[in-house]
Amino acid sequence: MRIDIVTLFPELCDSFLHASILGRAAAKGLFEAHCHQIRDYTTNKQRQTDDYPYGGGCGMVLYAQPIADCLREVQRQCAAQGRAKPHIVFMTAAGQPYNEEKARQLAACDSLVLVCGHYEGIDERVIEAFGDEEISIGDYVLTGGELASLVVADSVLRLQPGVLAEAQGYQEESYWDGLIEYPQYTRPEVWEGRAVPPVLLTGDHNKIADWRGRQSRARTRLRRPDLYEQWCLTHPLAGAPRWKRSESATLVRTDSQWQAAAQLLAGWEGEQGRTADPAALRQQLEASRRQGWAYYLHSTAHQPDGLVGVCHKTGEIGRLLVAPEARDVGIGQKLLEFARKKLAEHPRPYLWVEPHNLGAVGLLLRMGYRLQSAESPETVPTGSDGTPLAKYRYTPSETGQS
Ligand code: SAM
Repeated sequence: MRIDIVTLFPELCDSFLHASILGRAAAKGLFEAHCHQIRDYTTNKQRQTDDYPYGGGCGMVLYAQPIADCLREVQRQCAAQGRAKPHIVFMTAAGQPYNEEKARQLAACDSLVLVCGHYEGIDERVIEAFGDEEISIGDYVLTGGELASLVVADSVLRLQPGVLAEAQGYQEESYWDGLIEYPQYTRPEVWEGRAVPPVLLTGDHNKIADWRGRQSRARTRLRRPDLYEQWCLTHPLAGAPRWKRSESATLVRTDSQWQAAAQLLAGWEGEQGRTADPAALRQQLEASRRQGWAYYLHSTAHQPDGLVGVCHKTGEIGRLLVAPEARDVGIGQKLLEFARKKLAEHPRPYLWVEPHNLGAVGLLLRMGYRLQSAESPETVPTGSDGTPLAKYRYTPSETGQS
């Protein structure tokens, strides 16, 4: 790959591209980098690169002419090397937001040119005439495009074959698969009283990969709910997990089962920061039987650790919850499938979910459920003061896998 940066500060860009990992890769010929001084292409005596903006306003605007001539020279050099027409990107605060997916697209170019603005920006006409696209590296304004172009160059060049020691290096990193990375640790095992998570010392690669996957999903869910939702949509859960011999789901009937169901529910309410009295919850659960609800208790080795309710009258699934210590091993998925089978008479059962309950939203999305526009807003549940609760209704999509 060939990368060209068009700038008023070529030395700054050049020193970055020729240091550390990128510097070694450039020395090995894994890519070619050229930084061009815009001033060298000026045609006025003073070698002036900018002028006042038409229409007034503060600051100066870079002339179109020297940038255009510089770009023509880069195009000529590329053609002389037998390369394809370079892809020209203008770094602007008003461009499209940059991300890893865009880095991957740009990494596939044979030749990439990054144009850096300065002062108030660049005469729009040269962007129109030469730009294939405009990229912004974030919703903030820099004094010049140099840092932005280096961000793009760095993220693109590290994807070139051979630049990183192992391809896995970038495939396991944040954003590659749409998730942010799990936490990393190095020696010593205990630093200032903080120990490395024990699983990382086991040498069991499956367990470690499992732990890292869970950390990655949990962090993305917490820190970047927007990315998490996208990831759930593009990563459907494949196949139904098998029930283990030690697992069971039984209809809640006996006194001890009602007790256990109410305890699980109270625990969940507590996690949401709401205080709940297990005795009152038990009464609510038992009373809802008259509206057609049936509850099933999930147990692992006879220890209750999950609950789900189904309403045969309406086709609603509710009270789907898994005790904290039993999460991330597929019990929620099994219980949702179980509930759906119990409601076989309802082709499109549904659930109400609080939008901030990203664990539940993620599970539903991955199982092919989709947000259903409220068909009749009056059915949205209301709180005791009559205000609608912020709950969303999910139902399996027509084409969903569930
Ligand atoms: N007047 C411009 C505006 O309001 O959008 C800002 C110009 S900025 C001070 C000067 C140059 O820095 C821009 O021409 C652009 O090349 C670069 N720049 C500033 N913020 C950027 C960002 N978030 N992403 C990419 N380039 C940026």
